[in-house]
Amino acid sequence: LGGSIARALARMKDATVVDDKVLADCLNEISRALLQADVRFETVRDVKANIKSIVSLDALAAGTDKRRVIQKAVVGELCRMLDPGKPAFTPGKGKPSVVMFVGLQGSGKTTTCTKYADYYRRKGFSPALVCADTFRAGAFDQLKQNASKAKIPFHGSYIVSDPVKIAVEGVDRFRNEKCDLIIVDTSGRHKQEAALFEEMRQISEATKPDLVIFVMDGSIGQAAFDQAQAFKQSASVGAVIVTKMDGHAKGGGALSAVAATRSPIIFIGTGEHIPDFEAFDVKPFVSRLLGMGDLSGLMDKIQNVMPADELLPKLTEGAFTLRLLYEMFQNLQNMGSLGQLFSMIPGLPAQFIEKGKEKEGQAKIKRYMTIMDSMTEKELDNTYPKLMNESRMKRIARGSGRPVNEVVDVLEEHKRIAKMWSKLPFQNIKRPSTNNRD
Ligand code: GDP
Ligand code: MG
Repeated sequence: LGGSIARALARMKDATVVDDKVLADCLNEISRALLQADVRFETVRDVKANIKSIVSLDALAAGTDKRRVIQKAVVGELCRMLDPGKPAFTPGKGKPSVVMFVGLQGSGKTTTCTKYADYYRRKGFSPALVCADTFRAGAFDQLKQNASKAKIPFHGSYIVSDPVKIAVEGVDRFRNEKCDLIIVDTSGRHKQEAALFEEMRQISEATKPDLVIFVMDGSIGQAAFDQAQAFKQSASVGAVIVTKMDGHAKGGGALSAVAATRSPIIFIGTGEHIPDFEAFDVKPFVSRLLGMGDLSGLMDKIQNVMPADELLPKLTEGAFTLRLLYEMFQNLQNMGSLGQLFSMIPGLPAQFIEKGKEKEGQAKIKRYMTIMDSMTEKELDNTYPKLMNESRMKRIARGSGRPVNEVVDVLEEHKRIAKMWSKLPFQNIKRPSTNNRD
């Protein structure tokens, strides 16, 4: 992560002369990163060509920061590609809107429907959910459960098997009940693909949605273009939501979905729970595509673990001590969403705290802290604990009642994390403001 683009740009800086070859190498490196992020080949080719024409070597005359010029061109070009030029329909309070969700099974439609409803409920809307998925067994129960949890009215049936009928019924009912945002969840699978798209066409025709949202799994990659296009042809998709961006997916497929539907991304899903939902923001998304890590989002999250005022000076000194790690562990223990935080830190991999194994992760942190409790002040404040010879390690193990190999683990882990942190370009990040957050 964070690797190839940064490396390519660093190489450019090292090159004494920036000639066509250096630029070409850099562009190849960037192409590779984009392909790895699941961006479609055709798109990568276009990005490359466009950047080449934007960045003429004259613009890279002496005195200008070459890396910045290229980086700016890449980011600018990707932002442009993510913007289809027309904004998506947004529901208005007090006047009934119908929003239909489409997407393949497993993409996250049912989960996202509820998140979307909850998002607007918080804004003062009265949303309602309609389950028009009669194909998947248990679909109605799932929606019912989600809706009840979020206290949102819902409509569906265990008996009626005609999805069009249920959709119309639900939309009519909630219109009468004066709901102003009626959300229709649909099926994502059928015995035959053609039948699924025909069903989407019929539901769309019968409920006349103001907006059709295509939901895609952030990790689907190359398949995104065809999928999005197929749904666009059966119901006129007007917006995209990318789910599962809490995992390792960089979301390159989303670029293809935007291209195929000529619709903007409006939200991203960042977890299985209802609040794990964010309005789409193009800059961090592009950073992530390029493997630069979602730094602004990261800083925001990290604020909760350690106030930026304390963290930034410490990191810019390049001194990531054991004590700093200890303090972080301490703060992390007081927080719930460990996995999420860790997944956002580029280079801090899931192996430390595996997804779905947050409990074990917490236990590990506790063990590590017990070991660190047996270290001296001097050892805790040392960036690279050279003081730690074998006999010290044995003492610490004895003192903490843990095996020596675990002491070694702590030191290894610290070294790895310290190295990773020292590479994060925190110096370039504006401090997140603490006074204008929701
Ligand atoms: P549907 O078949 O399109 O209705 O998809 P579901 O809503 O049933 O979701 C499929 C699976 O993906 C479920 O296990 C969800 O909990 C999970 N899921 C949905 N959105 C997200 C997300 O943003 N992040 C993660 N990690 N999981 C998600
Ligand atoms: Mg579903």
